Amino acid sequence: MNDKHGSSLFIGHGSPMNTFEVNQFTTAWREISASLPTPRAIVAVSAHWYIDRTAVTAMSHPRTIHDFRGFPDKLSRFDYPAAGDVSLANDIVSLLSSFDATADTHDWGLDHGTWSVLAHLYPRADVPVVQLSIDARASFATHMQIGACLAPLVDEDVMVLGSGNVVHNLGLIDWSMVDSGFEWAEQFDGEVRQIVTTQPANLASIQQHRLFRTVAPTPEHFIPLLYVAGLAEASGRKLSTFAEGYTFGSLSMTSYAMGDWRSLPQSR
Ligand code: ZN
Repeated sequence: MNDKHGSSLFIGHGSPMNTFEVNQFTTAWREISASLPTPRAIVAVSAHWYIDRTAVTAMSHPRTIHDFRGFPDKLSRFDYPAAGDVSLANDIVSLLSSFDATADTHDWGLDHGTWSVLAHLYPRADVPVVQLSIDARASFATHMQIGACLAPLVDEDVMVLGSGNVVHNLGLIDWSMVDSGFEWAEQFDGEVRQIVTTQPANLASIQQHRLFRTVAPTPEHFIPLLYVAGLAEASGRKLSTFAEGYTFGSLSMTSYAMGDWRSLPQSR
């Protein structure tokens, strides 16, 4: 009997203003959460906690971090008051002991990579959330191994949420391309989709792709997908896209889900 009910998502988060917006992407985020069993807790891997170690927020009430500049005041006042889960955080530290994971009791909290998405997935902030940092020193293969180590949690109704963007080049943004992508962005995104949906174990090698430095001049927005791919491979479960599209030419909003969803918008 298959008693696996947990899920994992990678969400292309795009602009922080998506926190407030109703568009094709945020609508898809709301629909995917409605189609999934409500998890008992969420482990979020956000592009915006990119440090020199693997750490896990271990606070009963993580603060909402406003880690951006140049956006309207209402974004700086946004609060996502989800509880933490110290017990889960400590379990993750144990699961990831071979990666020297540590519990973070005061440095971080919930950053906008996490709450801009959770504002739509779980707008009532009624599911506890812990964040897992990205160790900037680790290889792509290591990020996938860490994701694989999280697989047992998903079997215990924990959601693993990666939040980043497959294609994320802010320097090449074209504001006139409101909802379209450059040809190279679409090509890379398509090749990633082919790997993620058929052979996620092969994703680490994408770092050698000739377009990688163009789509990801810095890799932190891509890396959360490695966690979800590693987890899916370890779980023996498939990933599918549930949102696709581009904004401003050089941002891919492609999002993936692994789980027992019923009907997915835009799935393929
Ligand atoms: Zn971001």
